[in-house]
Amino acid sequence: MTSNALFDNTETAFQLKSDSELERAYFLFKMISKEPLVKIGSAVTKFALNLNLPVEGLIRSTVFDHFCGGVNESDCMPSVDRLFDVGVASVLDFSVEGKETEAQFDATADKVIELTKFAKNKEAMPFSVFKPSGFGKFKVWQKITENQELTDEENDQWKKIEIRYERVVKEAHAAGISLLIDAEESWMQDAADELCERMMEKYNKEAPIVFNTLQCYRWDRLEYLKKIHQRAKAKGFKLGFKIVRGAYMEKENERALENGYKTPICVSKKATDDNFNEVMKYIMDNLEDIELFIGTHNESSTYIAMDMMEEDGISRSDSRVWFGQLYGMSDHITFNLGEEGYNVAKYIPFGPVKDVMPYLIRRAEENTSVAGQTSRELTLLKKEKARRKL
Ligand SMILES: Cc1cc2nc3c(=O)[nH]c(=O)nc-3n(C[C@H](O)[C@H](O)[C@H](O)COP(=O)(O)OP(=O)(O)OC[C@H]3O[C@@H](n4cnc5c(N)ncnc54)[C@H](O)[C@@H]3O)c2cc1C
Repeated sequence: MTSNALFDNTETAFQLKSDSELERAYFLFKMISKEPLVKIGSAVTKFALNLNLPVEGLIRSTVFDHFCGGVNESDCMPSVDRLFDVGVASVLDFSVEGKETEAQFDATADKVIELTKFAKNKEAMPFSVFKPSGFGKFKVWQKITENQELTDEENDQWKKIEIRYERVVKEAHAAGISLLIDAEESWMQDAADELCERMMEKYNKEAPIVFNTLQCYRWDRLEYLKKIHQRAKAKGFKLGFKIVRGAYMEKENERALENGYKTPICVSKKATDDNFNEVMKYIMDNLEDIELFIGTHNESSTYIAMDMMEEDGISRSDSRVWFGQLYGMSDHITFNLGEEGYNVAKYIPFGPVKDVMPYLIRRAEENTSVAGQTSRELTLLKKEKARRKL
């Protein structure tokens, strides 16, 4: 069994943070632990940015610099290098959201291709990443998922989405870089899953280049995984999955209630946790067909994963198992895993301040709602501050 004290090592956890960065992190988590403050702060920030008020500097020196690598990929490179020096890989995530025009979707796909080429032959950057809604209108994904008929214009937009996927996946395949595709709201996800599976069938013949994401707060995901596994075996292609709990729980539950259908979300946190661990176990037991990227800040799931690896004789550096956390969060997990020789990566979001705001607000809200995690971050930061004083 793995020692459950590994993640308490704050010296390793915060080795890359200067004293002032440590202070800023403490201040920031203290602020976002207060729900009313996050609500007001988010609203005021949106308002100020829409009016072009000069708040970018303030955002940059606080939340932005803590949770993002910069406004472009070159800004992120010093962080990528520093992380790699201590055994942690990077996944550069062009996190602009809320774009709606075809030209913007093309620009996002071009950016992912550019990043993929950039990452080629760089050991520090083994993955590329994108969100389905970054490549096409949400409405189009949703209408296909709901089996609604598309207008001629939407049909055109869908074809363009398919072309963007094909271009990006082809590039990743040529570069030998795995591509992690995020999962989003359930009412658009079937279309994304179906398109992703087509890409897997075509490009995952020898190795899993294309990874989809399983949101384990959805009670139907284990069943989905077992079925796609059967299809992949029958047709002879490999699978790759990032597993996460899921980021849209409130929205999902509200929509299900409003529209009178059964929520796709597990009945409780415990049920989500169990589902996450079962999905993880299923993949660990089938690593010859499915590669795994465990995206979580949950210590218990991470310890369970480490134990599963040990019990099954999977080496810590087995290239088929990766762990991942978001930049600015759960450094105690990331850096201690890196130190112990596990494959671990940080998702580093970047983009213009205004465009990454939805991402930042989600992080702040998540840290508010996941009260346990924020207080854990605070406890560890406090412990490290005290250790350094000594
Ligand atoms: C590298 C990485 C990549 C990610 N990619 C994606 C992605 O593609 N798509 C996406 O949606 N999210 C993604 N996320 C976010 C992720 O889904 C979670 O929101 C976040 O990581 C918090 O979950 P946790 O596993 O860290 O652990 P915890 O803090 O233990 O779990 C919190 C989560 O548990 C679930 N939960 C909480 N309360 C309940 C309840 N009452 N009933 C049922 N379930 C409950 C919710 O999903 C909540 O977010 C990613 C996270 C990481 C670290």
